[in-house]
Amino acid sequence: MEKGYIQVYTGNGKGKTTASLGLSVRAAGAGFKVLIAQFMKQGDYSEIKALERFSDLITVRQFGAGGWVKGKPSDKEKAQAREGYALLKEALTTGEYDVVVAEEGNLAVKYGLITLEEMLGLMEMKPEGTELIITGRYAHEEVMKKADLVSEIQPVKHYFADQGVKARVGIEK
Ligand code: ATP
Ligand code: MG
Repeated sequence: MEKGYIQVYTGNGKGKTTASLGLSVRAAGAGFKVLIAQFMKQGDYSEIKALERFSDLITVRQFGAGGWVKGKPSDKEKAQAREGYALLKEALTTGEYDVVVAEEGNLAVKYGLITLEEMLGLMEMKPEGTELIITGRYAHEEVMKKADLVSEIQPVKHYFADQGVKARVGIEK
């Protein structure tokens, strides 16, 4: 890619993770190499199975301890996040990937799994030709300031909040 930008997908509405997955598939369709590093997630998300079909172009790695961080992150969650950060740093240093997705990266900062300085550092080290996508609720002001594109998805309605519909396989997970 000639010039890559930094995109942030945040807000409380549905579509942040799916937008990053959609962009990853589109990028792979153009022959781009994609790295998706998912913070705080571990397990059987349907996207992992689907993207196995594109394993020559899309790499997905999970850095969670099984389930979402509730309250204070455990040592295992912290250790996983360290690995995620290290991988992102390597990916952005080598410039091996055309598209790098820090999935739930905003939440990782929010929960202190990676520091704001580390996230800003990753944004800084992004090679010219790499697109960096950071997703997740509660994007930090500084992260949004540094990004080239910020989409804030608002829940005008959400069946989780309104009808108590939990995450469904193939639709939310
Ligand atoms: P998707 O993965 O469907 O694109 P997202 O990445 O925008 O959604 P997240 O903020 O990552 O959404 O939320 C993950 C999951 O948390 C949602 O799929 C939903 O099941 C659940 N959830 C809990 N509370 C809410 C809420 N108030 N609004 C929306 N989703 C919620
Ligand atoms: Mg998400």
